Amino acid sequence: MAAAHFVFVPLMAQGHLIPAVDTALLLATHGALCTVVATPATAARVRPTVDSARRSGLPVLLAEFPLDYAGAGLPEGVDNMDNVPSEFMARYFAAVARLREPVERHLLLHAGAPRPTCVVADFCHPWASELAAGLAVPRLTFFSMCAFCLLCQHNVERFGAYDGVADDNAPVVVPGLARRIEVTRAQAPGFFRGVPGWEKFADDVERARAESDGVVINTFLEMEPEYVAGYADSRGMKVWTVGPVSLYHQSTATLAARGNTAAIGADECLRWLDGKEPGSVVYVSFGSIVHPEEKQAMELGLGLEASGHPFIWVVKSPDRHGEAALAFLRELEARVTGRGLLIWGWAPQALILSHPAAGAFVTHCGWNSTLEAATAGLPVVAWPHFTDQFLNAKMAVEVLGIGVGVGVEEPLVYQRVRKEIVVARGTVEAAVRSAMDGGEEGEARRRRARALAAKARAAVREGGSSHANLVDLVERFKPRDVANGTTTPPPPRP
Ligand code: UDP
Repeated sequence: MAAAHFVFVPLMAQGHLIPAVDTALLLATHGALCTVVATPATAARVRPTVDSARRSGLPVLLAEFPLDYAGAGLPEGVDNMDNVPSEFMARYFAAVARLREPVERHLLLHAGAPRPTCVVADFCHPWASELAAGLAVPRLTFFSMCAFCLLCQHNVERFGAYDGVADDNAPVVVPGLARRIEVTRAQAPGFFRGVPGWEKFADDVERARAESDGVVINTFLEMEPEYVAGYADSRGMKVWTVGPVSLYHQSTATLAARGNTAAIGADECLRWLDGKEPGSVVYVSFGSIVHPEEKQAMELGLGLEASGHPFIWVVKSPDRHGEAALAFLRELEARVTGRGLLIWGWAPQALILSHPAAGAFVTHCGWNSTLEAATAGLPVVAWPHFTDQFLNAKMAVEVLGIGVGVGVEEPLVYQRVRKEIVVARGTVEAAVRSAMDGGEEGEARRRRARALAAKARAAVREGGSSHANLVDLVERFKPRDVANGTTTPPPPRP
């Protein structure tokens, strides 16, 4: 029988794109054809990964579509979230939505590939519902978020937990959970909620998600069974947990190339790590979007230096920093040579975390980073900045017990206003020491992280929950009734 053909429409942002591509590759390992839709700059970032998968025989295609930059009033080439200036964000989303027609035409007419059987689109693409309807196939919603975050967000909204609460920073208890979790409106306002001008888009996102035929999440069941079940129940929708999808990558080469071209060679990075004691290195990265301001960069650097631990700090490209911060970073780099490694650009994160020398991860708690830490069996210093990061930080610290909070309770940016929040060097030092130190609490955290890593690996092995869900997806979305001229698989049941 013919194979399923999944069309992935990721949000063109690393935290959404990387796990979507990994999920496509995992489905391809189970025999499904996968087409990944991408804008040119985005396609360039993942092409090495896709090409390497194709060379190894996996049926995966990269379909590239430029945006109508001029028509949308966008600067030429602005097509990935980390290079879209915030004032262009609405135009950017509008331009991406206009890809529906060319993508649909390509998929219907592309002679080389069989018709799609399912669209797997990021939750930020409400227009993908129309794409799926045009192709007459189901649409699944893709989230690289934990079920805990999705359920908390859903429950505060459906039970009106913020009603009558005037202060956006006043904690409320998340309703409908067995565990007591507190959150503020500023920490969890809802996807695209609370930003003037985005009300309709937020409604469209929610409607598209509610009308979709199921949800695919980069998490694994054994990490959060009650929240996966709770989210599926509350939405009345089938949820496929397929993670941790980073475990698709088994070789140094593909681990190092994940998401972008790294600013440091894999060999150089591994040599540096090989020279360090097991569990001794602190890895510091705030993902693809967050850039600490000058003062924060300095406090962080001084805190890391004072902690006395070897560290790798992803400081991103030099042109991201002002003169003073750059001078500070260069001096720090010279002072800590041998003990501290600064990465000036994209880091081979998954490769670093999987090295035995890695000891803890100072993270902004993007979900991918949080999950990658757990997958590597590492404790985290949880330093959320905005969006879902606060709920992910709660997941790491309060639910999983693998994190130390850095004490940030307010988002750095809320309703377009940037706050002056600076975590002092002493706080950074204390949090790093706490995550790294070998006392009873630290040991217990590390034990829990290692146990999670073992469960993560079991989930993706044959017989594991994520493995079974991938197989189920491939089976369920195979073309059927080809003889009758329809290729639409039956809608999934919870
Ligand atoms: N990442 C990486 N190298 C970097 C920065 C990020 O490989 O220098 C990867 C990281 O492993 C993760 C993703 O990019 O898979 C970032 O996603 P996350 O959800 O953690 O944060 P976001 O970038 O969305 O804020």
